[in-house]
Amino acid sequence: AKHEGRGRAEMFTAELALEAADRAELERDLLLGLERDEFLLEFQPQIEMRHGGVAHAVTAEALVRWVHPERALIMPGAFVPVAEESGMIVALGDWVMSRVCETAARWARSGVHQRIAINISTRELAQADFFLRLRHAMATHQTPPAMLELEITESLAMDMDERVLGQLSALRQDGVRIAIDDFGTGYSNLARLRELPVDRVKIDRSLVRDIVTSAEARTICSAVVGLIQGLGMEVVIEGVETQAQMDMLRVIGCTLFQGYHLARPMGEAQYLDRYAAAPTV
Ligand code: C2E
Ligand code: CA
Ligand code: CA
Ligand code: CA
Repeated sequence: AKHEGRGRAEMFTAELALEAADRAELERDLLLGLERDEFLLEFQPQIEMRHGGVAHAVTAEALVRWVHPERALIMPGAFVPVAEESGMIVALGDWVMSRVCETAARWARSGVHQRIAINISTRELAQADFFLRLRHAMATHQTPPAMLELEITESLAMDMDERVLGQLSALRQDGVRIAIDDFGTGYSNLARLRELPVDRVKIDRSLVRDIVTSAEARTICSAVVGLIQGLGMEVVIEGVETQAQMDMLRVIGCTLFQGYHLARPMGEAQYLDRYAAAPTV
């Protein structure tokens, strides 16, 4: 039944893309959707694989979905870009931030010490009061900073000014983890990467897709992983879809994985069922 749901979601996504010509309608629907509380979060685990085959879920990435009254479930690819262009992403991002802070605080109180990662878009980070609002959400829900992680895309990370860098460093000092998302899709200034207040780098799945069949792809992936680890940062591999990919990545020296091969994004109840009580996968 779950897969039927996915198929339908994809159908509606395509349908929505066609209709995206009517942006005004989508924007209005987004605003209404926020008022009517039509959004929900799914969580996808990041799994740590240690020697001896022991696997633990260590972080949950929060991914937003829209339960549209007429269009059923809509995936973020169909509305996040529109929300970014219209500026609506600030309101949507606030909703995500507040929901994540509330959830993370609840997890901490019940002994589930897994961080929740939030995706932050360019437009949100550009708001002068972004950090104020984040700290306000954390204070409201009494969220331990050590329960949170911020995911910032590679292109955005390369583009941050001193003010934003200072705020990120302060958050990091308080215990919030900072990750670079989609690494390998942009053009990084490697000297700059070294100076960023960053704990982990998430390697985009485009760098991983062909490693089993192509020696060149393997060489590139291995070099990128080595470089990031050499800078003292942790590597997370995104979009792991097969056991063969994972085996190869472990040989390269990777220990943190996220992808359909391990688990698809799921609702909170299911996530806690699978990963909270017994952290072993
Ligand atoms: P992302 O941050 O790169 O998130 C990972 C996306 O890859 C998710 O898609 C996830 O379901 C998908 N994925 C995970 N494992 C695999 C795999 O093994 N194979 C493949 N093919 N895909 C995999 P999703 O949930 O549709 O999200 C798409 C994008 O929408 C995200 O990409 C992120 O950029 C954006 N997004 C999602 N939630 C939020 C949010 O709350 N705020 C903002 N600003 N953006 C969000
Ligand atoms: Ca992400
Ligand atoms: Ca990503
Ligand atoms: Ca992305």
